[in-house]
Amino acid sequence: MKILVFAERNTALAELCSGARSLGDQIEAVVIGTPGALAVDKIWSIPVQENVMLEDYTDSIAAVMDLAAANMLLIESTKRCKLIAGRLAAIKGCSAITDVMEIADNLATKRMVYGGAAVRQEKAVAGPAIIIAGPGVLTASAIATGQGVVETAAYIEPVSRIKIVSRVQKTKVTVNLSAAKKIIGVGRGIAKQEDLTLIRELADAFGAEQGCTRPIAEAEKWLPKETYIGVSGLMLAPELYIAVGISGQIQHTVGINRSKVIVAINKDKNAPIFKQADYGIVGDLYKVVPALISQLK
Ligand SMILES: Cc1cc2nc3c(=O)[nH]c(=O)nc-3n(C[C@H](O)[C@H](O)[C@H](O)COP(=O)(O)OP(=O)(O)OC[C@H]3O[C@@H](n4cnc5c(N)ncnc54)[C@H](O)[C@@H]3O)c2cc1C
Repeated sequence: MKILVFAERNTALAELCSGARSLGDQIEAVVIGTPGALAVDKIWSIPVQENVMLEDYTDSIAAVMDLAAANMLLIESTKRCKLIAGRLAAIKGCSAITDVMEIADNLATKRMVYGGAAVRQEKAVAGPAIIIAGPGVLTASAIATGQGVVETAAYIEPVSRIKIVSRVQKTKVTVNLSAAKKIIGVGRGIAKQEDLTLIRELADAFGAEQGCTRPIAEAEKWLPKETYIGVSGLMLAPELYIAVGISGQIQHTVGINRSKVIVAINKDKNAPIFKQADYGIVGDLYKVVPALISQLK
């Protein structure tokens, strides 16, 4: 099976290409600009255009899809990539399947619906399947193969382009939770933003990164929204996940249930998170976390 891969970020591109090896035997990537080293069989390189938004490379990517004639186009799960996937599906008359949790060998997919209350199985029936996968969905291949032969593809000017009106610098999120082996997730159990320093201290003591639930990022805005975990955020598979003050609603736990070990700290012994956890500490996080930090130190 031939798989074509496209991503907005280089790290995601490498991860998706490596994961694609577990599904296909011919892996090709489409990149904008000069490609870096990639363990793929072929790289289609579309020349970078000045002042052209990523979305406006859609027609060029569609042309590469024709040339590559792949069975599947695997795309990173970002807002812009989803937009491109939708446009490509419209151009090609095929299906774009978003937010998949699993991709089977026959390209059947599974994804959460109704806010995580049910799992839907879907399979594209016509044309190449356009599948959008987040971090951790595909298992990276242990063997990095492929010569990465580069072929230049044409840039195709779209009929109507997005006009860039202005650019504003955004606060940079330096943490890459998808690659983290240990993650401390924090939820609404913390009373105020300043208390995040306590969680940071715990994360440092474990050598872990910090993630959170959606309300901490979206409602309180105490942590960047790129760090919230769950059905509408990151889907992760770390070795250790410690849930601090997190109730354990399904919309959150689908993002962590592939962790090797889950530890939960919650003052409510009936909190659903304990059903998911390998180890649970029933107690007030303001007592448990300092005690853990002092033991770890
Ligand atoms: C369509 C949809 C999509 C969603 N997507 C996501 C998603 O991707 N990710 C996500 O996280 N959520 C998502 N949600 C929200 C989700 O349903 C939950 O509301 C959310 O995960 C709850 O966050 P929480 O555990 O931080 O807060 P709460 O549910 O309020 O839980 C707080 C927990 O902290 C405990 N606690 C309080 N004080 C202390 C203390 N001092 N010590 C110890 N424990 C304490 C409480 O017992 C409680 O269990 C989504 C919801 C919908 C409808």
